[in-house]
Amino acid sequence: MKGLMMDAPLSIKTIMSHAEMIAADTKLISRSADGDISRLTYRHAFVRVAKLANALDRLELDPEARVGTLAWNDHRHFELHYAIPCTGRICHTINPKLFPEQVRFIINDAQNEALFIDPEFIPMIEAMRDHLPSVKHWIALCTANNLPQSTLPNLQAYESLLNREQESYDWPVLDENRASNLCYTSGTTGDPKGVLGSHRSIVLQCMSQNMASQLGLTSEDVVMPLVPMFHVNAWCMPYSAPMAGAALVLPGPQVSDAQAMTDLINQEQVTFSLAVPTLWSGINQFLNATGTRIPSLNRGVIGGAAGALKLYEEMDRHGVRLENGWGMTELSPIGSYNRYLPQHDQLPDDARADQRLKSGRPLFGIQMRIVDEDGNTLPHDGETTGVLEIRGPWACSAYYGKPREHDWFNTGDVATIDPLGYMRITDRVKDVIKSGGEWISSIEIENAIMAHPGVREAVVIGVAHQHWSERPLLVVVPEESYPLLTPEQLLSFLEGKIPKWWIPNACEFVDTLPHTATGKVSKKMLRENFNRYQWA
Ligand code: AMP
Repeated sequence: MKGLMMDAPLSIKTIMSHAEMIAADTKLISRSADGDISRLTYRHAFVRVAKLANALDRLELDPEARVGTLAWNDHRHFELHYAIPCTGRICHTINPKLFPEQVRFIINDAQNEALFIDPEFIPMIEAMRDHLPSVKHWIALCTANNLPQSTLPNLQAYESLLNREQESYDWPVLDENRASNLCYTSGTTGDPKGVLGSHRSIVLQCMSQNMASQLGLTSEDVVMPLVPMFHVNAWCMPYSAPMAGAALVLPGPQVSDAQAMTDLINQEQVTFSLAVPTLWSGINQFLNATGTRIPSLNRGVIGGAAGALKLYEEMDRHGVRLENGWGMTELSPIGSYNRYLPQHDQLPDDARADQRLKSGRPLFGIQMRIVDEDGNTLPHDGETTGVLEIRGPWACSAYYGKPREHDWFNTGDVATIDPLGYMRITDRVKDVIKSGGEWISSIEIENAIMAHPGVREAVVIGVAHQHWSERPLLVVVPEESYPLLTPEQLLSFLEGKIPKWWIPNACEFVDTLPHTATGKVSKKMLRENFNRYQWA
């Protein structure tokens, strides 16, 4: 017997309608490249979304067209996140920080019919234009006055496109399983792979994020995602925030300018932000150095890579409670989130602090397990490490244009899961250091060394070793203000904090660490830099 409830599809349009109903006057602030602030409300933004939807039809894009965006976090990109999927098309966010060959590959693989481009990225697209046969329309995300001279054929200004259109649109009722968003993983090996979300997967991910024991946004929040919309839709904030009735502040391109970001936090009274550890670390250093205060910001997500305890604790002192969220592009992106349970209040300080570094418990809807090399499931005892596998309605079942994956998705992460369900990432499979047949957790060593006041950034990589096959090498960016730091001091600082045989064989100082296109430290590039390293 079937239930007798209505068949109302879970679509991105329902998020828009809901926000129009409950948060029409809630603000949507956006900062452009030149620092200009545009002030909209959701009501205004959704009128512009309707105009954009009319414009997409006028361009005669295929009903299932993949429409590419190369853009920073701003209101125009927000509008694209609604108009494209709500007309039935697919919003394909392209990471403009990738190598041009990768950008070209991605546009061709997705067969984009139109590209919406921030003016800053137009020269890169001009250089590859002759190799993008599927693209019929080129739109610069600017006003007519700011439209750059370009070799792109009939390059149009976004605002001119909107100006011609009506303020209402007859939205279609879409199947909730229809594709809505496409994002390619940067892929450390091989070509990038497309992850194709659906209306249903986006809505479910946002509903689960918004539960009180997870990110739990409310209509009192002012949310500023520093994580880019081209990286898994800024972890879904353009959808989760309006769903919760929270205000949005979209910070434009200058996310690594800590002064500009803290000014914006204070000006707009931001309460909640999301960023990778590198960006949080930049804000922390700025606050430490200048004594600037950001009293409105009380909570934030740190994710995309492991953050060090020192960073969590220093941000506590600035009044910002960081919470560890784990996820990946293939998971739309959030899979688990770390908030304390009441029993954690009873833990001794060290254990309580350590608890924060776990990647948290699965969001409702996500199943997790760890397996050994033969695929046997391993116990959730908080000790045993295995490869993390997941299932769920917002987990990728196949890459775009590729055969179906297995029933469980292999994340490529190595993790433990404790009896309370808290998962802890100990490494990427690719970054694991295997010394004498045993795994060493680079993340735990990095966390231990970050507690040293002379360390600004630290990474541990495996380097070939004649006897042990691999041994850990510690690579450190020293804190400039710290006097007379030596590699030996740092190595002996680790004694007693990690197992003796995990202590790196050597420590090298560098001025900077290489970063990926999504702002994470790139261990792959670092391994390449040290691939001829000779142990003393
Ligand atoms: P991406 O698909 O580029 O977002 O990268 C996903 C990968 O980033 C995951 O598989 C993890 O290796 C890593 N990652 C994401 N969040 C965390 C976290 N909170 N702690 C440690 N690693 C993380």
